[in-house]
Amino acid sequence: MSTQTHDVLDPSTEQRIASIPLTSVEETDAAIERSHAAFQDWRQVAPADRGRLLRRFAAVVDGAREELAALEVHNSGHPVSSARWEAGNVRDVLDYYSAGPERLFGRQIPVAGGLDVTFKEPLGVVGIIVPWNFPMPIAGWGLAPALAAGNTVVLKPAELTPMTAMRLGELALEAGLPDGVLTVLPGKGSVVGDRFVTHPAVRKICFTGSTEVGTRIMARAAAQVKRVTLELGGKSANIVFGDADVEKAAASAPYGVFDNAGQDCCARSRILVQRSVYDRFLELLEPAVSGVKVIAPSRDESEMGPLISAAQRDRVAAYVDDPDAKVDVAFRGTVPEGPGYWYPPTVVLPRSTTDPIWQEEVFGPVVAVLPFADEADAVRMANDTQYGLSGSIWTRDVGRALRVARGVEAGNLSVNSHSSVRYSTPFGGFKRSGLGRELGPDALDSFTDVKNVFISTED
Ligand code: NAP
Ligand code: MG
Repeated sequence: MSTQTHDVLDPSTEQRIASIPLTSVEETDAAIERSHAAFQDWRQVAPADRGRLLRRFAAVVDGAREELAALEVHNSGHPVSSARWEAGNVRDVLDYYSAGPERLFGRQIPVAGGLDVTFKEPLGVVGIIVPWNFPMPIAGWGLAPALAAGNTVVLKPAELTPMTAMRLGELALEAGLPDGVLTVLPGKGSVVGDRFVTHPAVRKICFTGSTEVGTRIMARAAAQVKRVTLELGGKSANIVFGDADVEKAAASAPYGVFDNAGQDCCARSRILVQRSVYDRFLELLEPAVSGVKVIAPSRDESEMGPLISAAQRDRVAAYVDDPDAKVDVAFRGTVPEGPGYWYPPTVVLPRSTTDPIWQEEVFGPVVAVLPFADEADAVRMANDTQYGLSGSIWTRDVGRALRVARGVEAGNLSVNSHSSVRYSTPFGGFKRSGLGRELGPDALDSFTDVKNVFISTED
């Protein structure tokens, strides 16, 4: 038995809510071996039955939605309305991929002398490594398609936020998923996560987190030609043209970046505003920012909670409040008094596009605003980053919206809105924001390998 434990804190009260045993390397190996054994049976479960089990899992998650949401409010400090959406998203993703097992179509390809068919074979054990920012959705986006395609899953939640993932593991058993098909292993990235990468029975890593750790995982996975899907950082642009509905763009901009206190890889943390409407936009942005309801996440009206940890708050503060950072704060929202890792929604005006605040992922409620001259300038500035995850374009000109959407190097763009994630559409990054796509109709493919079989019809 493992003796090491980790204290899980409520980031809005700083109180301990649980003490979780940390899985050791030996325990990780044993779990991977059980998962590998379970795979031999799981892949043989009839497609309709595998689909039915996933629908049952979805129904059990739906029944536990309030409980899961409450766990997330306390473990992650997410506003309860967001946490409810997140639990519902796990249900929806399970439902969506429950149709997968019966639709894992191969092809019949015309060839001479026989019949040629392809099969989409499951890979084996899939290792899912989840960050602390969206513990439930990110777990679901990996495990649902992985299981639907006939793989078994070992999943490591972030050390800071294991509560909902552990509960999902129990709910899977309640729903009737066989033992060993989904195993949740709370523990350290450097221990459990790293073992997923090095254990030869784990055939694929699905990683979401920092570009730094993702890059290292990709390099280490190469030793076994292990498949990887990577969802990494972002520094996405919210581009506001002079011909846009500037009122609407300004009113919604805070929600495009301060959702989850800015701890969102899709956060539109750079706002680019056409010079003709720059002053007007900032005037409108100020009341929109001070209107964001930063209050206890357990309250229904809460729109933003605290940061995940004291360390994350320090990291964010260093970008803004350190005099060496040379950052000009335009205005800020408010935070509650008392305990909790709060940081106010903050709008800064960089001095140059080379400033760290304009280039680096802050992962907190800080947004930088700069003006641009014309369309070409906007696209050039938007692309002047190592990242390419998401972005928004505000304009009333349809042609311009499409030109700019095609020009911005990012995987998920929205026009006159800040939407990036729908379970039925693909999600993922360009450049150093990631590799591969999750969600949508094609995600099952990344949990299978194609097998080609030729059957001779010669006498
Ligand atoms: P991280 O280190 O990349 O952690 C993400 C996950 O990977 C966690 O489960 C972590 O485990 C695990 N991990 C860490 N080192 C590992 C290793 N060597 N091998 C295998 N797995 C490993 O991210 P973080 O430290 O939590 O956050 C740092 C910064 O990353 C943030 O401030 C933000 O800029 C960025 N980030 C981005 C996203 C995103 O969605 N794109 C999500 C989270 C963070 P532990 O829990 O033990 O660390
Ligand atoms: Mg880390």
